Amino acid sequence: MWLRCGCAASLRVLASPLRVLGLRRCNTAAFMPESTGFGGVSGRSGLQEFSVSSSESFWAAVARHRLSWIRPFTAVQDCDLSRGRIRWFEGGKLNVSVNCLDRHVHTCPDRVALMWERDEKGSEVRYTYRELLEMTCRVGNLLRRHGVKKGDCVTIYMPTCPLAVASMLACARIGAAHNVVFAGFSAEALAERIRDAQSSTVITVNQGIRGGKILELKKTVDTAVQSCPTVQQVFVAMRTDSPVAMTARDIAMEEEMLKEDVVCEPAAMNSEDTLFLLYTSGSTGKPKGLVHTQAGYLLYAALTHRYVFNYHDGDVFGCVADIGWITGHSYGVYGPLANGGTTVLFESTPVYPDPGRYWDMVERLQINQFYGAPTAIRLLLKFGDEWVNKYDRSSLKTLGSVGEPINTEAWEWYYRVVGEERCPVVDTWWQTETGGICIAPRPSDPDAEIVPGMAMRPFFGIKPALMDTEGKVISGNDASGALCLAQPWPGMARTIHNDHQRFMETYCQPYPGYFFTGDGAYRSVEGYYQITGRLDDVINVSGHRIGTAEIEDAVNQCPAVAESAVIGYSHDIKGQAVFAFVVLKKNVDVEEADLSRQLNGIVSEKIAKYACPDFIQFVQRLPKTRSGKIMRRVLRKVVELDLDSLGDLSTLDDPAAVQEIIQGHRDTSMKST
Ligand code: AMP
Repeated sequence: MWLRCGCAASLRVLASPLRVLGLRRCNTAAFMPESTGFGGVSGRSGLQEFSVSSSESFWAAVARHRLSWIRPFTAVQDCDLSRGRIRWFEGGKLNVSVNCLDRHVHTCPDRVALMWERDEKGSEVRYTYRELLEMTCRVGNLLRRHGVKKGDCVTIYMPTCPLAVASMLACARIGAAHNVVFAGFSAEALAERIRDAQSSTVITVNQGIRGGKILELKKTVDTAVQSCPTVQQVFVAMRTDSPVAMTARDIAMEEEMLKEDVVCEPAAMNSEDTLFLLYTSGSTGKPKGLVHTQAGYLLYAALTHRYVFNYHDGDVFGCVADIGWITGHSYGVYGPLANGGTTVLFESTPVYPDPGRYWDMVERLQINQFYGAPTAIRLLLKFGDEWVNKYDRSSLKTLGSVGEPINTEAWEWYYRVVGEERCPVVDTWWQTETGGICIAPRPSDPDAEIVPGMAMRPFFGIKPALMDTEGKVISGNDASGALCLAQPWPGMARTIHNDHQRFMETYCQPYPGYFFTGDGAYRSVEGYYQITGRLDDVINVSGHRIGTAEIEDAVNQCPAVAESAVIGYSHDIKGQAVFAFVVLKKNVDVEEADLSRQLNGIVSEKIAKYACPDFIQFVQRLPKTRSGKIMRRVLRKVVELDLDSLGDLSTLDDPAAVQEIIQGHRDTSMKST
């Protein structure tokens, strides 16, 4: 598991400064020990081909080698994408927390598992594997004592902190599923997720603290559970010293944990038992709870963590994503811990207390792999190089990017300034549904080029396909289409909680026999993949996914609003920003500025602050087809000021509506709300 590859790729910038090349070739068996059983496969591209053409042999070997099983699996896979049936490693039993903790405690109990970079700079706290196991066991026993059973689902509404990780692992230990809800979500959004997950137990903190600001998380939970009849108990941990009002339902978490034993019997879980639900936005107003299961998810998170980032034993892995998102799950928690790694939990923001925060942390914690979002990179590059250069970044070996396309300017800055042209930048494409990275420049042969702003190469076991508008597979290169994955892989989501039909309709039915990702992609002449953006009504604001329908649902709840249409438009820091066209009810007599404030208040109350419109244009009517469908394509063109390509307006019910909107748009000249 922790075998070092003897071929740390030494990197050089050759002819084009943006082509990153390594010089030495790597011994395949040293690179991936399982490959000795793969019948003469050599090189990393050879491994990739084998992993796709002999998928069962590949995954069986990797699963045996990298996971600790209580009982070995009897079938590698039983999948049929056309029926939405996905099963891996059936017959096998294991415990995810044992894989992430106990086995490392046996070999290296004092190795640091977590480095908690608290919001207060310079006050980081380290937890060894032994300490994290003990904390996890106490939480596991506490949950068990309070009646949490195998198969229950515990909602976790906490900032990124060790106790949140221990809570996730404790659920895994006793066989409960977890449902981590990003602590920036509002009470209503939290309540909706608690109800859908049917949680009777919630874990939270008294207050969060981020960027120096206090977040009243317990109060948010109090409001949320009022509309959640299933909730019987709320565990409240103390992140700050401020006491909070406790109700009969609330349990002081740390106090009760002290009463618990540091040994907790792990449950023997079936490979396909649920490990967690994670809610994400789709193209309807209702978020979907993607279901990930035990063995396949863990294996995929571990393997991608090891190979995409070239993670080696002893490295410090710095993923700055919040645990409330899939990136925090797979690369803040499960991947690194399954690999016996040291992982950083980042609680703060990139600009707190100043724009040097990340790089100060890199120097202090000696981070080797840094994994962040393009939106933060774009923001930081505007503050200038001096904030980066102030700090020693010689520990860095790999830089990762995730969540949205990284533009060339940001990529170059990341590569040249942050990485001092030494570190490969891996632009990783994946999604909540895929469980782990599916397309990334690495692993590839050490001398393989990296093209800026491209995810490039499929990971082991991943077979991308591009589809044309008629649903046919595009075979050639230099082509664009709908991005599908042609065969199942262990990390993929199994279903949508309580709604397998929606899972089928969203992912399996659009291109029968394929998994449809919802993204478009371009395949270059060389065969590299570049993600071109969502094909559905989902937008990506600062790397956070949000359905335009969700925002519209919130906006439409304002009594003054008759209807609305929300679109995403490009924004130089956030990637995409939110633009809302709003039609008011007749005889509404409110100042537009007041109404804008009111609408922003509603959206942040119903969803979260990041979903608030950046611009609101009040219009008389929306452009619609004769069948009543809003023509968002037209609205997008208006906002992009691309009036020459409005396209065919003949299907519009009333083409004059477009002229009105164009005029209104000119008049408001993008007034900020
Ligand atoms: P989420 O499930 O919230 O992680 O969002 C996944 C979506 O983010 C994908 O479907 C893409 O639209 C977008 N995304 C993630 N990573 C990348 C990337 N490297 N390049 C382009 N888009 C990305």
